[in-house]
Amino acid sequence: MKCPFCAHLDSKVVDSRDSETGEAIRRRRECLNCGKRFSTYERVEAVPLFVVKKDGRREEFDRRKLLHGLLVSTTKREIGPAQLEALVDDLENQLRGRGGTEIPSREIGEMVMEKLRLIDEIAYIRFASVYRSFKDASEMRTVIEQVLSQPPGTRRQAPEPSRRGRRPREDSELPLDLGK
Ligand SMILES: [Zn+2]
Repeated sequence: MKCPFCAHLDSKVVDSRDSETGEAIRRRRECLNCGKRFSTYERVEAVPLFVVKKDGRREEFDRRKLLHGLLVSTTKREIGPAQLEALVDDLENQLRGRGGTEIPSREIGEMVMEKLRLIDEIAYIRFASVYRSFKDASEMRTVIEQVLSQPPGTRRQAPEPSRRGRRPREDSELPLDLGK
């Protein structure tokens, strides 16, 4: 198992337990080279789920792709990869619990956004901006206003000002310039 920090191939297992839903075994590993810790998951290979796209194409549900999208949306937010893994686990269990093997992409997107919103509003807006591909800033502002109109207590913190120039490269795909 390759270390995600230094790519070294040897690690030792420091902890092992069932995930909360009991559908995976989580192993905490420590890299023998750099000493950093990371998690691996062992799960039963399940019947594939298919995502039905807007144009009718079907694509196998891909946890990693979804996780990647979530990681991009949560860049510089205080959300750990474990939290995102849990979100995806939760989503997958929900999808599998429905019984069918085909789910419209739109439904999945909305389910993800609903969960993400409970964790982090900024990440939610970023994800929504990509997922819904807002046509312009006003459409995005509507979503932001919805977030801001939530009763106090359901909000964690105010949106931060955009930090141009210091953003990671991937962020450039996320249209957060709201001043125009
Ligand atoms: Zn390492």
